[in-house]
Amino acid sequence: MTPMTHYINSQMTGPSARQQAVINPATNQVIGQVSLASAAEVNAAIANAKAAFPAWSQTTPLNRARVLFRFKALVEQHIDELAQLITTEHGKVLEDAKGEITRGLEVVEFACGIPHLLKGEHTQQVGSGVDAWSVNQALGVVAGISPFNFPVMVPMWMFPIAIACGNTFIMKPSEKDPSPVLRIAQLLTEAGLPAGVFNVVNGDKTAVDTLLTHPDIEAVSFVGSTPIAQYIYSTASVHGKRVQALGGAKNHMLVMPDADLDLAANALMGAAYGSAGERCMAISVVLAVGDVADKLVAQLVPKIDALKVGDGSHHGIEMGPLISREHLDKVCGYIDNGVQQGATLVRDGRHLSLGDGHFVGASLFDHVTAEMTIYQQEIFGPVLAIVRVADYDSALALINAHQYGNGTAIFTQNGEYARHFCDAVQVGMVGVNVPIPVPMAFHSFGGWKRSLFGALHMHGPDGVRFYTRKKAITARWPKPHLSQADFIIPTMK
Ligand code: NAD
Repeated sequence: MTPMTHYINSQMTGPSARQQAVINPATNQVIGQVSLASAAEVNAAIANAKAAFPAWSQTTPLNRARVLFRFKALVEQHIDELAQLITTEHGKVLEDAKGEITRGLEVVEFACGIPHLLKGEHTQQVGSGVDAWSVNQALGVVAGISPFNFPVMVPMWMFPIAIACGNTFIMKPSEKDPSPVLRIAQLLTEAGLPAGVFNVVNGDKTAVDTLLTHPDIEAVSFVGSTPIAQYIYSTASVHGKRVQALGGAKNHMLVMPDADLDLAANALMGAAYGSAGERCMAISVVLAVGDVADKLVAQLVPKIDALKVGDGSHHGIEMGPLISREHLDKVCGYIDNGVQQGATLVRDGRHLSLGDGHFVGASLFDHVTAEMTIYQQEIFGPVLAIVRVADYDSALALINAHQYGNGTAIFTQNGEYARHFCDAVQVGMVGVNVPIPVPMAFHSFGGWKRSLFGALHMHGPDGVRFYTRKKAITARWPKPHLSQADFIIPTMK
């Protein structure tokens, strides 16, 4: 097994003084000890990345892209090994783990086009004999901090574009599933990435706070829960860094009476219960318009009863465990709370017994209202809430009033409603008959409201904007005798 220490200067380091157990959530067995970096260890990684920056930023974009082309081929070659690492530490089923690697690779493919993406703008003759152009330059050392739920895909939203742009990178993965990123660091080295360009520090708040406040970190990309995203945004901003901090979610699917209910019910099974609901784009609320709810419940119940829950590394399993015992208790606590506040628990996953793993079964609530805690807060588990609404306008108003605005979807066969929804909904990513509208790598990913702090979304064109700064150059080559002092603001003639 790969040691769970840090990867600095193209080498695994020795263990840190502080460590924390990493647990296989399907068995509750300890599978390793992850090092928790001290401030001094993070400082050393930053110094290393800073030393690597001048040469890497001067490497031609074409040659930076060539490293990423080789890296892509290596990840494809090692996809089974990486998926196994994800499943062992996160719990999601193997095919889903491969799916997240593939979505991450799409960002690598996008970043391979960096020679084209970095092109600036040029205007000839902005004044007589004067030309002007702008270039996009790398920032320096940048950091990424990622959540447990996508241990490969979320880091890959960040570092491929950052290093393609010429930056050097410090990755701080989740301490719950650190191994996949450490393996990725080794594959980057094997692909020819120079030492110090991509470093991994494992750790907790100590490591994060060092990154947020260190003068040599130019930018921070964060994905995780909303309270931490807000903390990252405010702390790193005060320390003069550019920040993009993506937070939690409560994604609604609006189902109109004219929707294809077979399509909607099948879509909901994957969107609500895939990866045990531990996805920031999971659907956790259905807004059932008119008489849709009874028909939808009738379709969902047999599918929920047939769902195969178990160890994600076993063949045929559709839903794995939750990440930790603590999170299992939290999710079950939300189900208790929904019952106490008067929602109808149609399917109860609380008492699923599958050995020592952190399993909860797929759960379904009907007659949920906007005043209930299970409607207002992110549960991050396989718990779907149906809210019955009279009409389209009241459904739209509910989505727009919610604190989160990450993803949403409308299921309908009516183009007029769909078009209005896309325009009027206050959410960053919208699906029409598509339950989880995660943008492709060549578009950008991000929510609105308390799902994202910062101006720019992640990957795609916004990724290139985030990891570069513009420089505008104005130049002329006058004959010496034409030069004279100017005491007014020069205007172009
Ligand atoms: P988390 O916020 O607990 O942790 C995320 C990262 O922050 C980890 O690397 C962790 O070590 C670090 N961290 C945790 N507490 C910290 C603290 N007090 N100070 C400094 N750093 C701290 O999130 P998680 O439980 O790992 O992931 C689940 C959350 O992430 C959910 O809320 C989910 O919606 C969200 N998420 C959002 C997106 C998105 O694109 N918007 C994508 C994936 C996950």
